[in-house]
Amino acid sequence: MCKIIYHNKYGLYNLGNEHPFSPQRAEMLIELLQELKVFKEPLQPSAVNPEQLKLIHDKDYVNIVENVSAGNEQGQAEKYNLGTADNPIVKGMAEGARYQVGGTLHGVQLLMENKANKVITFGGGFHHAHKNSAAGFCVYNDLAVAIKEMTNQGMHVAYLDIDVHHGDGVQELFYDDDKVMTISIHESGEFLFPGTGWIYELGRGSGRSLKLNIPLEPFSEGDSYLLAIDKVVKPALAWFRPDALIVQAGADAHFSDPLADILLTTYDYEKLFKEIISIAQNSCNNKMLFTFGGGYSPTATPRVWALLYFILSNIEIPKYLPKKWKNKWEKILNMKFPDTLHDALPAYDEIPRKQEIINTNKDTIRRLMDSVSQHWL
Ligand SMILES: [Zn+2]
Repeated sequence: MCKIIYHNKYGLYNLGNEHPFSPQRAEMLIELLQELKVFKEPLQPSAVNPEQLKLIHDKDYVNIVENVSAGNEQGQAEKYNLGTADNPIVKGMAEGARYQVGGTLHGVQLLMENKANKVITFGGGFHHAHKNSAAGFCVYNDLAVAIKEMTNQGMHVAYLDIDVHHGDGVQELFYDDDKVMTISIHESGEFLFPGTGWIYELGRGSGRSLKLNIPLEPFSEGDSYLLAIDKVVKPALAWFRPDALIVQAGADAHFSDPLADILLTTYDYEKLFKEIISIAQNSCNNKMLFTFGGGYSPTATPRVWALLYFILSNIEIPKYLPKKWKNKWEKILNMKFPDTLHDALPAYDEIPRKQEIINTNKDTIRRLMDSVSQHWL
């Protein structure tokens, strides 16, 4: 069975009404699952204490985040990339972030203690947070804290990031670590934040060839993702054979996402999630933890994550969205939802340069595998 982790205090990480990284996304999902009568009571994590964050983050950085979040001194905040449009200073955000780190940490503890094989936390996924600075809506790197906890116990961990943005913070924090493989599939940094995640970023020292990046062309479709899974993720994890897989399941590669240009449909996500789970079962000791992440289309994100929940929980995917839920959120957001859980329409009728995009992605994948596979002998 799949264990769910969530705490109401995740919502304290609320960067403002105009900010896209909204706690409303998890609320919408929970209400949707409740309306469908499939919501399981989640396990409630504790917040990590600031000391535990120092496994990953510099002491000075943690102190400044805690201070500004409590409404105290802001003098040095700028130095740590806090107080920007992406990372505004909001009261209570440190506590909210520590609950979400606690959730991801609780998830890996369940895996390590053999209390669960499949876990999902309805939050976390702060893959851009660095050792000593905030970035891309992220303050504390829950993924890195959780991975570090596992490697400290001697485990080998694989991290797969399907958020549309490169998982730069996690990659960087384990760049020379031979116990951690990171794989990120994202829209190319030539077009999208954070501008990194190239195929030549392969890791350093004993971590060399364990950091894999698949930068895809704008307007890439599901087939390119499935190819990346089949040609890179599957052989990489079959070779590395980690003790567990951590997945950052950002939903911002959906075609309706306002911040990026990838064209995944919910049907593509369904295939992707099933593939990833099957790989985790075969090559990652059947232990997997999923977090949220990006996902800025309010009409798509709760549906994508609901699909993940259904697949992880072995519940049949319902055809329709509950009317009450749909009407309520259409009114609040002033946006139109489809009648169905899946997308009603294909991403686009006709995609210009479609074949060219697929060929470029194929070539990227081939070049990546040419440069890493020689290290995997
Ligand atoms: Zn993202």
